[in-house]
Amino acid sequence: EKGINQMGETFDGPALMSFMQLQDKYQLPQTHFYRYLQFRHYPESKLGPSLERCISQQIQWKGFISSFYEHLQTACGWPRRAWEADLDMDITPEEWETLNKNAQRDYICAKHRIVQYKILRRIYYTPAKIHRLFPSRSPLCVRCKSTQSDLMHVLWSCPNIQPFWKQVCKEISGYLGTRVEPDTQVCILSNHPNTTSINKYQKQLASLALITAKKLITVNWKTPAPPQIAYWKSEIGSYAPIEKLIYKSKGAKVTYNRIWAGLWRPIKSLL
Ligand SMILES: [Zn+2]
Repeated sequence: EKGINQMGETFDGPALMSFMQLQDKYQLPQTHFYRYLQFRHYPESKLGPSLERCISQQIQWKGFISSFYEHLQTACGWPRRAWEADLDMDITPEEWETLNKNAQRDYICAKHRIVQYKILRRIYYTPAKIHRLFPSRSPLCVRCKSTQSDLMHVLWSCPNIQPFWKQVCKEISGYLGTRVEPDTQVCILSNHPNTTSINKYQKQLASLALITAKKLITVNWKTPAPPQIAYWKSEIGSYAPIEKLIYKSKGAKVTYNRIWAGLWRPIKSLL
């Protein structure tokens, strides 16, 4: 009625206009002040401070809709709550934020960051998800034909994938000289416990080896047979040249050598 049709029309650049500014611009009566306070309060009270920040900071940016949608999901506790249900554990919003930060920090290669990001955000299209969208498509797990074909099953608990994870963890244990259990927190969330005895280079080595396993599972999810451990090793080895270049370009060749020190002997024969 007064000409305010979109939320963006109440912003002056990145900031919400004051009531006086809105009065000047849209001739709002003084009686609308209480409505203004409600409007100003709504995003934070109902949807969380992150969404309010998103609206106020990114209103003019490209990709606003996807960013808004992501913040809306976060404000609703998704996909954190879905992981809590899948892993039967509590994940606080702070822990969730740390997991997302780690997903960006642990991998020097952008491709690996994307794999972990897609897993955390549950972006992968599993048979169960595809079946919900297209009921004519089979809901069965390609590997074991189970009707449980959601993300957790495809990525972890499928009986045809579990032996692969056990073998991967056994191999990594050998690289690190300490036992790495096939555990969802470490393998899927990439959350290494603070009590662990391994150093930061070994953690990065483990993260690289684990993200390679996750990449092979997700890339080959239509293949009935699980990935082979020899293929997993040669895949890790294939990353060496590009990782070396990236670390070198960042002046961190020593870091590269320390991370890869534990990998050379086991994978050398496969290169
Ligand atoms: Zn299965």
